[in-house]
Amino acid sequence: MVKCLAICIYKVLLKVLFFFIFMFPNPNRMFQSLLHLFFPPVCAGCKTVLMGNENVICTACRHEIPLTQHHLNPENEAFKKFYGRIPVEQVSALLYFHKKGIVQELIHSLKYRGQERIGTVLGEWYAEELKNNPILKTVDTIIPVPLHPKKLRERGYNQVTEFGNALAETLQIPVNTTILFRQVYSKTQSQKNRLSRTEGIDSVFDISFSESDHNQHFLLIDDVITTGATLEVCAKALLKIPGAKISIVCMAMADS
Ligand SMILES: [Zn+2]
Repeated sequence: MVKCLAICIYKVLLKVLFFFIFMFPNPNRMFQSLLHLFFPPVCAGCKTVLMGNENVICTACRHEIPLTQHHLNPENEAFKKFYGRIPVEQVSALLYFHKKGIVQELIHSLKYRGQERIGTVLGEWYAEELKNNPILKTVDTIIPVPLHPKKLRERGYNQVTEFGNALAETLQIPVNTTILFRQVYSKTQSQKNRLSRTEGIDSVFDISFSESDHNQHFLLIDDVITTGATLEVCAKALLKIPGAKISIVCMAMADS
């Protein structure tokens, strides 16, 4: 009886395999289709199974996600966050970040669950909105907010990298990951707070540049704008480069 059942299962699996070989002569596509058959891709926002034409985020979530439309208003709330702190040309974020909302789920999956594709999708999405922006047309270099090398090894990737690469591809602007670097490692938020109180957050980032980096318009990119403290410190470091100008683009902005 058991032997008979095993033979039946074996035959069914063999038929499925032949079906996929016939349908997908390309081994990569066949493997991907088999994988999707047993582990269908789900939306990074709501976890429902994605339809064939959907990529990472389902259509319902795309419609539900709150957009800031900052790029349509130069004097937007994100720009105003930096009033009196640093001179900036333009500041914008694609989405609003609400606690326990879809965007929090997306950012959490991007940062802590290895779903780097979310960064690509958000970057491609925002690049389409920003590609005709007159201020961003004058940007020379994209600078992702860096992680400390130890944090980079722990996480395996910088969550902003793919967002930056997607922006770079559409906007045709190079990414530079060496001018700005992080020299202080901070493990948790409480450690960060302690660091900012005791050692001075200004010492967390430093720059390394040559004369060819003078007079550049840098586009600083990050995942979420909350207080803007990290971006402010990064911008202050970059503004030490003669003739530097700064704009900021983020995936999301926390609503306060
Ligand atoms: Zn969804």
